[in-house]
Amino acid sequence: MIDKNITEKVEYCLNCKVKPCSNKGCPLENDIPNFIKAVKENDIKKAYEILSETTVLPGVCGRICPHMKQCQGSCVRGIKGNPVEIGKIEKYVYDTAKENGIKLKDIYNIKPNNKKVAVIGGGPAGLTCSAFLAKNGVNVTIYEQYNYLGGILMHGIPEFRLPKEIVKKTINDILDLGINVEYNKKLGVNLKLEELKTEYDYIFLAIGANKSAKMGVQGENLEGVYGGNELLEHDIKIDFRNKNVAVIGGGNVAMDCARTIKRQNPKSVKVIYRRAEEQMPAEKKEIEDAKKEGIEFLFQNNIAKIIGKEKVEKVELIKTELIQKEGEKRLVPVNIENSNYLIDIDYIIMTLGGTVSDETLELGLTLNKWGNILIDENYQTSDKQIFAGGDLAGVKGTVAWAARSGRDVAENIIRKMGLTKI
Ligand SMILES: Cc1cc2nc3c(=O)[nH]c(=O)nc-3n(C[C@H](O)[C@H](O)[C@H](O)COP(=O)(O)OP(=O)(O)OC[C@H]3O[C@@H](n4cnc5c(N)ncnc54)[C@H](O)[C@@H]3O)c2cc1C
Ligand code: SF4
Repeated sequence: MIDKNITEKVEYCLNCKVKPCSNKGCPLENDIPNFIKAVKENDIKKAYEILSETTVLPGVCGRICPHMKQCQGSCVRGIKGNPVEIGKIEKYVYDTAKENGIKLKDIYNIKPNNKKVAVIGGGPAGLTCSAFLAKNGVNVTIYEQYNYLGGILMHGIPEFRLPKEIVKKTINDILDLGINVEYNKKLGVNLKLEELKTEYDYIFLAIGANKSAKMGVQGENLEGVYGGNELLEHDIKIDFRNKNVAVIGGGNVAMDCARTIKRQNPKSVKVIYRRAEEQMPAEKKEIEDAKKEGIEFLFQNNIAKIIGKEKVEKVELIKTELIQKEGEKRLVPVNIENSNYLIDIDYIIMTLGGTVSDETLELGLTLNKWGNILIDENYQTSDKQIFAGGDLAGVKGTVAWAARSGRDVAENIIRKMGLTKI
């Protein structure tokens, strides 16, 4: 018996023939109208099978994809009203399939062969590539620096948005396809590319890009200034109680840091963003939720300098105006002269995007102009035995896009091996 709420949501789908939700919106090109049709017919197994042709992360993506920027943003229903709530339906299909004990390995008809691939990094890109290789019978080993898999799904996106139980269930299902894992293996430290190259047919690098970028402002090396990625990834314990905290940036990471810190009883949490609210890259819902939770926003403010003797004490802010410059798609923030002012701050969290790790720079692979690993249209790096994807290769910065790169790499490797794709 289908949940009444879900019945309303699936009945609202028009089952469009052109399906822009899939073709234009969804990075994974999930067959959205057809999986929704299967739910309408009360066939959850079929809906899960349809999803599993293109994704192994429906329980994750249903919950945390920026749906309005991806599938739902292209839904025909959204032209005149609200789009179909595709994310909620996808989540429902995954949760119900798992409640009914339906497993990926029962859906994929695996016939093992003697080909071998090493996947380095067990985040969304690495997991997805591994699953689609394993589906095609390839012997896969994942090498992961930590003693757990999942990457940002585990140590970045907070529990209140993505329960760890869902991530663990997803990973177990993927590993059940017969994938080996070598934990506590860090590329560039106790794992060498040259050795892997002799042992495996191909290598997929998917180690992300999670070193927080810096601003280059005076005082950013003072005690009390942290990178948002590191704060979440290493679960750095700070006593925020009764402290004033500033989070710099306007993306998903800013919202996750601000909302995580707000739960620890600080005196105040201020998000400081140099453009206006409409230009914030974070999902609208995240911004609304953050506001409801009491997080303050200082839009059109830039950091001029961070002040303190050893530790952060104050921040000097400067107001900005937004100007349309020739050749620029977005309005550009320009500091307004003499608009500087000071605020008391104890901790600063910088969330200005991630860059590749120091180990990546030492791999000897060519980088692109943004400092990511350079890949060609097949995701091959400057060493043709090595592929790269996900954040490491600068692939659009969402879970679904990272997963898409992983699936594409698996398909390219299968083709290069001369196997017939299942
Ligand atoms: C706080 C935060 C919130 C986000 N929220 C969302 C969201 O709501 N929706 C969304 O779609 N996207 C979100 N993103 C972006 C999304 O999480 C990433 O784009 C995605 O995780 C990239 O996947 P990946 O596999 O390339 O890298 P990662 O997820 O970073 O995985 C990399 C893996 O490689 C391992 N690794 C790293 N270095 C080494 C090494 N040297 N040797 C071996 N293993 C190594 C890591 O431990 C990790 O397991 C968020 C990002 C952050 C930081
Ligand atoms: S575009 Fe919207 S209404 Fe049309 S098939 Fe996709 S989800 Fe359904």
